[in-house]
Amino acid sequence: MCGIVGYVGPREAQPLILEGLRRLEYRGYDSAGIATIHEGSLDVRKAAGKIVELEGRLEESPLVGSHGIGHTRWATHGAPTTINAHPHTDGSDRVALVHNGIIENHDVLRIKLEELGHEFRSETDTEVLCHIIEELFDGNLEDAVAEALSHVEGAYGIAVIHADEPGKIVVARMGSPLLIGIGENGEREMFAASDVAAVVRHTRQVIYLNDGEMAVLTADGHSLLDISESGNGEAPRRVSREVSRVDWDLGQIERGGYEHFMLKEIFEQPDTIRDAMRGRLLEEEGTAKLGGLLPLEDVLENVERIVITACGTSWHAAIVGEYMIEELARIPVEVEYASEFRYRRPIVRDGTLVIAISQSGETADTLAAMREARSRGAPIMGIVNVVGSSIARETDGGVYIHSGPEIGVASTKAFTGQLTVLALFALYLARRRGMSLLEGREFVAAMRQLPELVRLSLDESSAIESIAREYADNANFLYLGRGFNFPVALEGALKLKEISYIHAEGYPAAEMKHGPIALIDQNMPVVFIAPSDSVYHKVTSNIEEVKARGGKVIA
Ligand code: GLU
Repeated sequence: MCGIVGYVGPREAQPLILEGLRRLEYRGYDSAGIATIHEGSLDVRKAAGKIVELEGRLEESPLVGSHGIGHTRWATHGAPTTINAHPHTDGSDRVALVHNGIIENHDVLRIKLEELGHEFRSETDTEVLCHIIEELFDGNLEDAVAEALSHVEGAYGIAVIHADEPGKIVVARMGSPLLIGIGENGEREMFAASDVAAVVRHTRQVIYLNDGEMAVLTADGHSLLDISESGNGEAPRRVSREVSRVDWDLGQIERGGYEHFMLKEIFEQPDTIRDAMRGRLLEEEGTAKLGGLLPLEDVLENVERIVITACGTSWHAAIVGEYMIEELARIPVEVEYASEFRYRRPIVRDGTLVIAISQSGETADTLAAMREARSRGAPIMGIVNVVGSSIARETDGGVYIHSGPEIGVASTKAFTGQLTVLALFALYLARRRGMSLLEGREFVAAMRQLPELVRLSLDESSAIESIAREYADNANFLYLGRGFNFPVALEGALKLKEISYIHAEGYPAAEMKHGPIALIDQNMPVVFIAPSDSVYHKVTSNIEEVKARGGKVIA
């Protein structure tokens, strides 16, 4: 979910919006664009790639006007092209809109709008909103936006302008951050942004919107409205909110108040897990809907064996995937390091599906392994974060994890995003191969609880931190788990190595006694992953073995 900036006031909008977008660059994005309104008409410039590309375009033909919106996009629906970049417009080129998030029901809405004669220009989920607003606009932008939003499901932060309403920006939020910046030093101007970093050079007086709220901004003021009931025909209710003062410096703001990006991304996981499931869980049917697998429909119907290829953290996610698919769908799965797969003579027969997993979608070994598999005739599926990346483009079908840009070098939220998607995929396969409706529904209900459970775990962070302090000087760690938590132990050990330069190994808990046990003493802390699952009692026996040798247990 990327960046939004809006401005209305006495100054030229383009340079202010551009500067705001540059402040959001640290978040990562794949394209950018700006729209302004001047003398009753709307003008848009967009470009795929970095902001310099957009700047190039603006130098050739600048945007005039003191009222506009801008966006940096992190694609979720449609490749990162210029056409798919925001702002998007309606058929009459009167409405311009930028959006962060995902509109879950975009496909149904799109069909309805096409029946009404609307022609779509982009592949994005976002564009439906422009056309609905066009359809509903009756001289008042906020009314049209409020009503339009009552038709959409999903997550959004949006900013909208209309050529018939000069000097007005309408913003709204549901599950994706948005704030208003109020002109300082007597300036009669207003900003809108998805992140304070975009406006903090001009104002530190901000109002944060809550979910279900909409704000109407003009140079002279703002009004905040609760539109959460507008779907039930209720008029928007005015809300009053105190202005907050931002005291952080820019670096702190960029990291959302966290010490570094990795920590920020760890804490984003309740949201990113929710985003990975967004629009994909079917309660009634007790299964998952994965639109990107449509081209593989026949392959999945007849698949007899799955090979998952990946590197590093994605390889660990792949092993959890193997366990889930085998247990639930009863299809044999092998997991191969991409770097090995590409140089071996992998066996690919009819009925073999190859899955490539990569956060960036550019991992060279995984790409090469995929091509090797392709040359042997295998259909390829991808599980990728970055939309439109090389792996995403070269697969026959796939599922995006929608974790947003991952800036921290050590993967965190992308790992749990991969696990979430692998769980959805395992459910999808299992329901076609004998899992009952009831079991499917239970699985869906359990998945729904995940974000909250992750949040509860993160609430333990200060306790975790004090344990970490106590053990920080140890030179070696062992990570142990059984079943699904064996690969999680591998991932834990990898994280410790990558981030703290402390040596760590992951093992299946029962393997410990076949070797590593010789190393256990008070200087070798052992991290056990021991949730109350089917192997809990087995794991507690392993814990006893460690204790018997004077080892320190962190469970
Ligand atoms: N879902 C929208 C798109 O793919 C918005 C992505 C974003 O949050 O940047 O265009």
